[in-house]
Amino acid sequence: MAARSLQILFLGSGTSTGVPMIGCKCVTCRSSDPRDSRTRSSVLFRWHDGAALRQVLVDTSTDLRFQALREGLNRIDAVLYTHSHADHVHGLDELRSFNFIQKTDIPCYGSVETLEKIRSRFDYIFVPGGYEGGGLPKLTLHAVEDNFELFGMKIEVLPVRHGPTRVFGYRLGPIAYITDCNEMPEETLRKVRGARLFVVGATQRKSHPTHFNLDQAIEAIRKTGAQKGYITHMNHDLKHNEVSAELPPGVALAHDGLLLEEGL
Ligand SMILES: [Zn+2]
Ligand SMILES: [Zn+2]
Ligand SMILES: [Zn+2]
Repeated sequence: MAARSLQILFLGSGTSTGVPMIGCKCVTCRSSDPRDSRTRSSVLFRWHDGAALRQVLVDTSTDLRFQALREGLNRIDAVLYTHSHADHVHGLDELRSFNFIQKTDIPCYGSVETLEKIRSRFDYIFVPGGYEGGGLPKLTLHAVEDNFELFGMKIEVLPVRHGPTRVFGYRLGPIAYITDCNEMPEETLRKVRGARLFVVGATQRKSHPTHFNLDQAIEAIRKTGAQKGYITHMNHDLKHNEVSAELPPGVALAHDGLLLEEGL
């Protein structure tokens, strides 16, 4: 990759069940188009920090092990958490494999409430004496509320609503990433403006109590003024080739394995 650029790799583009859904026989779930196979939503950001190539994961999805094997990942420098829902967090134990290779702790960032939920759900990792035998992931938890710097990159925190849950999106230079969201506050919209590439979650066509539907996500992309918008966190209602043909210019559906790059 170019020295002054930022990559975003879609590890997963699916909603909480993944696509295909277990037991479903719908046309998307039976599709032979690889873009209709969606693991749980997660992305990897990659940039050069001096001589080092940094790889920062957003969320540890339920499918992290499979995603890492598929993409040949062998290093994770840090994790940014969006929120504590199962599909975004439950692959956390897989970070252990990266600890084995790197022999360092992995710093994890998120809101106070997200990290609190992670601490209690994974008590065998974070409560001393809570586990015997086997290896434990070696992680450090860092609560963030505002912008911070990581490996020479400014990380902007983008709080949004996801029903009753507060979720963080993240903006790194030209790219903003927001997954689970049904309301983007004005302040967050201002922070996203100026990003060239905006990724946002849309679960389905019809309305949903805690997620944008497709039309709302397209409207959110339009409001930010981003030149390129990508939809993620999709369920089986959104068949890739059919929906792609209906989208306005500048908006596309993401898919697992999609790699995009923007200059810094
Ligand atoms: Zn989700
Ligand atoms: Zn289906
Ligand atoms: Zn969620």
